[in-house]
Amino acid sequence: MSKSKAVRCLKITEPLIFEKSRPGRTGFSVPDEKFDVEVRIPEGFLRESVEGLPEVSEPQVVRHFTRLSQFNFGVDTGTYPLGSCTMKYNPKINELVARLVGFTHVHPYFPDRYLQGGLELMYELERFLGEISGMEGVSLQPAAGAHGEFAGMRMVREALERRGEHRTKVLIPDTAHGTNPASCAVNGYDSIEIKSGGRGVLTAEEVARYMTEDVAAIMITNPNTLGLFEEESAKIAEVVHAKGGFLYCDGANLNALMGVARPGDMGFDVMHYNLHKTFSTPHGGGGPGSGPVGVRGELVKYLPKPRVVKEGGKYRLDYEAKDSIGRVRAFFGNFLVMVRAYAYILEMGNQGILDVTQHAVLNANYVRVKIRDFFDVPHDRMCMHECVVTDHDLKKHHVSNVDVAKGLIDRGIHPPTMSFPINIHGSLMIEPTENETVEDLDLLVEALEEIVGVAERDPESLQNAPHVTHFSRLDEAKAARQLLLTADMLPSEDAPAE
Ligand SMILES: *Cc1c(COP(=O)(O)O)cnc(C)c1O
Repeated sequence: MSKSKAVRCLKITEPLIFEKSRPGRTGFSVPDEKFDVEVRIPEGFLRESVEGLPEVSEPQVVRHFTRLSQFNFGVDTGTYPLGSCTMKYNPKINELVARLVGFTHVHPYFPDRYLQGGLELMYELERFLGEISGMEGVSLQPAAGAHGEFAGMRMVREALERRGEHRTKVLIPDTAHGTNPASCAVNGYDSIEIKSGGRGVLTAEEVARYMTEDVAAIMITNPNTLGLFEEESAKIAEVVHAKGGFLYCDGANLNALMGVARPGDMGFDVMHYNLHKTFSTPHGGGGPGSGPVGVRGELVKYLPKPRVVKEGGKYRLDYEAKDSIGRVRAFFGNFLVMVRAYAYILEMGNQGILDVTQHAVLNANYVRVKIRDFFDVPHDRMCMHECVVTDHDLKKHHVSNVDVAKGLIDRGIHPPTMSFPINIHGSLMIEPTENETVEDLDLLVEALEEIVGVAERDPESLQNAPHVTHFSRLDEAKAARQLLLTADMLPSEDAPAE
């Protein structure tokens, strides 16, 4: 079994809460006679019995959900190097700020005069994001990165149609996130895949081969999903602009640029931000997120409305903007995610924002240089905030990237992103993020080195990993098709007797 110091866990079983239910058991008691106000429960809400609901005590409820939460792995559990997703630590202070009643108790239907603080926060956050990225206007409405992409491409479409141009295609490199072609499709565009060059980045020459007057835009993730800086962006911008097209920047990797370089300065016309990746909102459990969209030049007037405007020191929502593409989201978007982002940027300041970027890049390069002796690194040069390695050298032991990922679980570390980007076979995309200490990075490196050793000596144990979890290797195809919600939660048979 693993020598890793990272794993020492207590495995507790937990049945369904319905299985713990006993008739008549309850989680609270109210002494009727002590109330001097009469509590009137409306007829329709009165229940004789709680049929269909679990009847459990309060400690049972607390233990049930605490145990379930411990079956899961989060950024608060350990290193979570899930590339592209930026599963970084979110300072707890921002959670406190987002829970202040002045933020949680405002209602979007309040008149503007009662919403001054919230509107000011949104107005300022738009400006911060614009400053960080070199964009002239920002809308906070979109609810996630993909939604920001949709809004961005919708504005591109609007601008082109106003020019009387009905372009049909969008260029997308082979390293792109799947949401990019999807955002094109929902805006009625066909996506054309272009190959990144031998160095893992796009070349202006290759883009020029595809760039016609039927191409609306090119969508580029910078740095791209190989963790490499798209160094020809400015040249590509010239090629695309010369034919009247737009440059879209997928800004999911902004934590590798902010404070150092700005997409707007590289020639990008439109981009989205993932506040839940870069700016301190926990994610991975289904949201909510926030994917503001920023634009420059010709596109500014098409931003979603209402816009937050400031006049004579007062803030209000402006519904007029006549060229706007309109609303993309109810009310203001996910406001409390914006509160976290605003607090985070204020706490960090200029220097802190720069430090985040530099540490993210330093940590990824530290891991890359430490593991390149025992992992194949396809583009082994200075990377940005993440590095991509492959299982190429392990194939001879019949060990794959999936087996490596499961081996990491046994060592207390969340697996990196696997098999993405799809143009790199058997890839593992490692994004340590800026908040891991050098000791934690060393644990990750040691775990990976140990796994390579096991692959040589005892490949079978890796092929059956993980061993220390509640469930061992699942049949992933079957698990996705045959959902079994009442599976018994006993620890796997082959757990080590430590
Ligand atoms: C996460 C991500 C997206 C999509 O963002 P969501 O907020 O998940 O919708 C798009 N592109 C890249 C490169 C990403 O990493």
